[in-house]
Amino acid sequence: MATTRGFLVGRFQPFHHGHRQLVEEVATEVDELVVGIGSADASHTVRNPFTAGERTMMITGVLADIDVRHYVVPLEDIDRNAVWVSHVESMCPPFDVVYSNNPLVIRLFEEANYEVRDPQLIDRGRLRGTTIRERIVASEPWQDRVPDAVIETIREVDGLNRLRKVATTDAGGGDDGDSDG
Ligand code: NAD
Repeated sequence: MATTRGFLVGRFQPFHHGHRQLVEEVATEVDELVVGIGSADASHTVRNPFTAGERTMMITGVLADIDVRHYVVPLEDIDRNAVWVSHVESMCPPFDVVYSNNPLVIRLFEEANYEVRDPQLIDRGRLRGTTIRERIVASEPWQDRVPDAVIETIREVDGLNRLRKVATTDAGGGDDGDSDG
């Protein structure tokens, strides 16, 4: 029987328990999973504090405990949405079904005739990248919202100090309350 491969894209700034539960759910529906790290070219801002390599460490660490064959692919943003799906296809193993709650991602893949599934958001009040970054900057507890591998990566790269530092200097990159995960 043919392999069903799922595709899931996110900025994962940082990868949190909502993302982890999403991956666990998708893993029950597909044989293999492609995790795209979106905005791979962005880092060292309040909205995107972690590099693609650091996010790869987080995701690889978390997915080691989830029983699904997977591929982690950094994806730089491009300034033409009309060709973004082709860009993604050029970088990733072929996939059959896309998982996303992001309206633009859903629209672009549906227009390219992909099956798109939009899973439920989990505990969105707590499990949201913007909220977790704000708590780090404010020195409020955040560790219970992310897997241990993410805490370890942030510790290894001195991520708390980086985020707090860029929060004082990143005038144009502050969080803007959009559909950030
Ligand atoms: P995200 O990190 O906000 O979320 C990743 C996925 O996890 C999303 O489907 C989101 O709905 C889901 N999620 C978040 N919190 C959750 C929770 N609590 N429970 C369950 N699921 C949860 O990423 P995103 O904004 O969807 O990432 C899209 C990426 O695609 C961005 O990097 C964007 O720049 C990129 N993109 C680029 C272009 C272009 O370059 N032209 C076009 C479209 C999208």
